[in-house]
This record gives sequence, C-alpha cells and structure tokens, in this order.
Amino acid sequence: MPEGDAAGDLSAELLSSPVWTDAQLARAGIPVVDAPFVSIGGGMGSFVMVDLLRISGFPLENIKVLTTSDYPWENYEYLTGVGQLPPGYRIRSDSASTPDNIWGFPSYAVRAAFGARSVRGFIAPIWNVLTENLLTDYWTPLAGQVFQGMSREADRIGYWQTLAKGQARMVRRRAEGGYFSILTVEEGSTRRIAYRSSFVHLAVGYPSVRFLPDLQAYRRRYNDGYRFVNAYEPHEHVYDDLVKQPGTVLVRGGGITASAILHRLFNDRERLGAQTQVLHLMRTHVDSSHGPHVFMRRRGGDGWAYQGFNWPKASWGGQLKVRMEKLGDEERLRMWQTIKGTTTPYRKGWQKQLRKARADGCYRTLAGQIDHVDPGPDGTLATFIRERDSTGTRRIDVNFVIDATGLVGDITEHRVLADLLEYTGAERNGLGRLQVSPTFEVPGARHGDSRLYAAGATTEGSYYAPVDSLLGLQYAALTICDDLARLGFCRRIGPIRSISQWWKWMRNVTP
Ligand SMILES: Cc1cc2nc3c(=O)[nH]c(=O)nc-3n(C[C@H](O)[C@H](O)[C@H](O)COP(=O)(O)OP(=O)(O)OC[C@H]3O[C@@H](n4cnc5c(N)ncnc54)[C@H](O)[C@@H]3O)c2cc1C
Repeated sequence: MPEGDAAGDLSAELLSSPVWTDAQLARAGIPVVDAPFVSIGGGMGSFVMVDLLRISGFPLENIKVLTTSDYPWENYEYLTGVGQLPPGYRIRSDSASTPDNIWGFPSYAVRAAFGARSVRGFIAPIWNVLTENLLTDYWTPLAGQVFQGMSREADRIGYWQTLAKGQARMVRRRAEGGYFSILTVEEGSTRRIAYRSSFVHLAVGYPSVRFLPDLQAYRRRYNDGYRFVNAYEPHEHVYDDLVKQPGTVLVRGGGITASAILHRLFNDRERLGAQTQVLHLMRTHVDSSHGPHVFMRRRGGDGWAYQGFNWPKASWGGQLKVRMEKLGDEERLRMWQTIKGTTTPYRKGWQKQLRKARADGCYRTLAGQIDHVDPGPDGTLATFIRERDSTGTRRIDVNFVIDATGLVGDITEHRVLADLLEYTGAERNGLGRLQVSPTFEVPGARHGDSRLYAAGATTEGSYYAPVDSLLGLQYAALTICDDLARLGFCRRIGPIRSISQWWKWMRNVTP
C-alpha cells in the first residue's frame, strides 16, 4: 500500500509538511514514544555515541537507537567480510583506535600482549607498537578482537536496551519543539512509530553502495550479476570458480579492499593451487611518491598510493585538524582536494606477495578505465579498456571483473538524508555530502534549543576529515557530548569523571 493511504501511516498532510504537530500525528494514528536522545543507524557511530552518553552519566531510558541491525558491528563485519578482511584478518586502523574504550588505553596491542599464552605472544605486539612505521608496519588489531571488545562494552553500558528495530524513514521538526523521527516497523500492531526527542544523532553509515555506470549498464543489458561483481556484494563464487579452473580476473581499484582482494587471490594460488592470472586496473596509476610539497608527500609506486590510514595522521588530532577548522570554505575545499585520494597501507607481507606474483608473471597492472563490458566467447567477459595516454579502447577478455572502487553513493540515495535535504533545512557541503559544523551539528536543521547531529561517511567534506573511521566517530561523539553538556543536557566528562569511569571500564562495571 502506498504511503499516506493507511490508518496509522504517514498521511498526505504529514508527508508534505516540514513541521509537524502532536495533533497531526494523533490524527494520522501514529503512536508517539518519548526519548530525549535518538540515534539513527545503530552501527559503530551510534554505538560510540551511546557509549559516551552513558559514560557522561546519561540515563539509559533516555536513549533510543533506531536501527535495522542486530549489533553495532554488523554492517562493518559484512563489508569487511565481503571485502576480504574477515574477522581473522587485521583491520586498517591502529592499536589506539578502540571503539570500545574512549580512553584508548589499554590499547588493542597491550590487550593482545596480556592475553597471550606465550612469551613470544606477549613480546610481539609490544615490540611492534614500539618500532612501528620504522622497523615494522603499523600494528593493527584483528577485526575479531574489535568485535569482541565492542560486545563486552555493549553489555557493560546496557546498549542492547536502547535498540528499537526498524527502518528509520524521516526526521521532521516538531512545532512544539524538538524533532519527530519516524520508524517503520515490521512487527506489532502499528506500521510506524514516531520518536519524539530533543536531540537526533544521524549515523547511517554509507548512504548506498556505489555501482559504477559500466557495471550497472552491463547488468541491465545482460542480466548477469555473476561475472562482473562489486567488491561490497557477496562474491565468494568468484574465488571458488578460480580455484576450480584457471582463469583471468580483472580487479579494479587502488584502496585497501583492492589490496585485500589481491591478497586473497594470491593466497588461493599459493595455498590451493589456483592458476589465476590477475590484471589490476587503476585509474590513477601512481608511479612514485607524490604531493604538492615536502610536508605533504605520500609514498607511492607500482600504481599504488601508500598511506597508513585513510587520511593523513595529523588530521585526526594534529595540525591538519586545527587548520581544517580555521580555513574559510574555499580554502577548506582546496585542502580536501589535496588530502583526499585512494590509498592503501604499505604492508611488507603484501608487498612481498605482489613482487612474487609479478616475477611469476601472474600479476600485471594497467593504468586506465573500463569503457564498457560485453559478454565474450565461452562465458568470458570482453572488457574494453581506455588506457592512460591512448585514444582508443583495447579489448581484454577475462573470466571475472571485481570492482573494488568507491563505496559511497550520493546522499540522496538514502531516504532519511534525502528527506532532510528537502524538508528540514539540511545542506550539502563542498564534496556534496551533508554539511555539519565543527560540533557535528547539521546547522540548517537547528530548532530552538534542539539539535540534529550527524556523524560518519555522510558528513565527509565538512570540517573534520576522518569522519568515517573508528577514532573519528569517537571524536564526533565526544564533541557532540561536549555540546550537549554546554546546553545543559548531560554532564561534561571532566578529569575526575574520566578517571573514575576508566576505572569502572577496567573492572567491567556499569557506568
Ligand atoms: C571495508 C572497510 C574497512 C574499514 N576499515 C576501517 C578500519 O580499519 N579502521 C577504521 O577506523 N575505519 C574503518 N572503516 C570505516 C568505518 O570505521 C566503518 O565503516 C564504520 O562501520 C562506520 O560506522 P557508521 O556507524 O558510520 O556506519 P555503519 O557501521 O555502517 O552503521 C550504519 C548503520 O545504519 C543502519 N541504517 C542505515 N540507514 C538506516 C535507516 N534508514 N534506518 C535504520 N537503520 C539504518 C545500517 O543498517 C547500519 O547498521 C572501514 C570501512 C570499510 C567499508
């Protein structure tokens, strides 16, 4: 049944008004639930926000998390899993990015050392963090260690009790003050519930997975989702097929997911005897270290741009962060253009594997872009590549194409965000995402003393660069918490509270 027609559903009147009254909701028959603080998403961003609120002393019953997920790391686990970084693999961020522990101490490396059952197991992570980036690669935790830590913290803070399961549909201003967030639910006597709150926090992750036009065109024309796949959709059949019979795969992209996919393909060659030939296509083929000047250079070579983390380290809490906050809009946008770009960490193990694969003749890089893809002979794909420095296209027949490029679609592909832009005064920033202030408030959506905040990938392009990272999400939560304390909504986490709460964390006691 279309929206606006059923009892207990969004009426035509509600759908078209930017500001709602309690009476309008009552007329539409939508039940209202009071929750002073509502977080929409229920992923890593919501989790760290609730964690901060609980540590600041905020009562559990005042928080609601509207989510489709059963647990906060569900989407992350899915994306890293299909992207070939399963729980037993090391994630990209370092030992101090601890979403389960706002103090960052004990870090994951220290915890791994004290959890080890051998002297070697104890020394290895400590030695690694002491010498990282000089003698060793950055020490990064296993994804499984991150999930375990979050599970313990979720239990400690009572996170599970905040969950309201369903699909958030929209956030609109409430005439009498605050906001209404509409949740569509599958079960129960009503289809929609309106959460009435003073504060809304949006942490919906990636607005959508971005399928590039060539992939969409191929699928539309040939109705084939088997051979040309996106790295962020399940595609285990590609690896299975390539183990069973020799084949050629074209991997597109130069980020960490492309690295992880190549690692998987070469592991399958080494361990399972696969005879796979790998063609690696990169639009920007980086031949050497690069950057505007000596202080902003990035290591690069063999096609890749190398960087430990997805943004320069100084943008988390160093001079780049401070500069971004002080720059005017145009200069800030120029800074974004300078520091953004697809990168992957330089890991000695991966480098060794790539060198071996090159020497064995099973790995080749190409600089260019796919023009289009058609079915080839014997169930193959004919890929037509526009190579760098060449005018025409070159045809290469392969068995599979794995597209590991950009994950983030346009923000209007997300219903809640599209609705915010249309009805609640939200605006886009220079990169086309959601504009937020340095306190992560969506400025156009302010409503009296009430605030609408946003965190995560949807806000990239505003004042803070690493928004889509575990530490960045924690920074956003801390900044929002401070803003709420200024508004008198929660207590500020000062030194004494911080120490006493850390001690509770250490003893695994409720905040
Ligand atoms: C492959 C990969 C590797 C990464 N590795 C790292 C790393 O090593 N270190 C690091 O710091 N960061 C990493 N990141 C980035 C980032 O930390 C994670 O993506 C993190 O999960 C982002 O958290 P989030 O809350 O913004 O989004 P998510 O964790 O994706 O959560 C968003 C949630 O919102 C829900 N949702 C969306 N719309 C609605 C709606 N309308 N109603 C209800 N629920 C909704 C989704 O179902 C989802 O559960 C990585 C990202 C990817 C993709």
